[in-house]
Amino acid sequence: MKHKKSCAIYAGSFDPVTYGHIDIIERSSLIFDELIIGVLNNSAKSPLFSLEERVKMIEDVVGHVENCHVESFSGLLVDFARQKQVDVIVRGLRAVTDFEYELQIAQSNRVVAGDIDTIFLTTNIEYSYLSSSMVKEYAQYGADISRFVPPNVAQKLMERYSGK
Ligand code: ADP
Repeated sequence: MKHKKSCAIYAGSFDPVTYGHIDIIERSSLIFDELIIGVLNNSAKSPLFSLEERVKMIEDVVGHVENCHVESFSGLLVDFARQKQVDVIVRGLRAVTDFEYELQIAQSNRVVAGDIDTIFLTTNIEYSYLSSSMVKEYAQYGADISRFVPPNVAQKLMERYSGK
């Protein structure tokens, strides 16, 4: 029997990408043959970084993960997954606070797209407190964010908040 290549999508806003996201990317790329990192273009949210900036920042830090690539999408994640012919969505779970929200999304996705499954990777304990919004909050006040995000992202945040 021919083994079908396994492929998954890890999607999010990534505004900006953090070490927590990178950890999930590295770990899911070991589980699947191919990983698509889907960057959401959500017109309802007003992100700090443009879609192009968010894509570029991720591309710059996942070069060592050979079986992944970054794409942007708008609209429903399940539609993007179908378009890519991918039937697994990866999400990261940090704490119980993520659980209810993530469960709701995963279950409603199963209703509208029963052919697509969501799997959850629990956060590396080291990053369980980390979120893009927390990083932005710290960066805004000039705090050291080098333990939260890679240097290229820290640089972009500093520039953004210093008005450069
Ligand atoms: P969204 O806007 O969809 O919540 P995010 O960019 O905040 O997107 O997160 C994308 C995914 O990464 C989500 O599954 C989220 O739970 C997960 N995630 C966010 N931060 C971390 C972290 N520190 N560790 C592990 N997973 C995380």
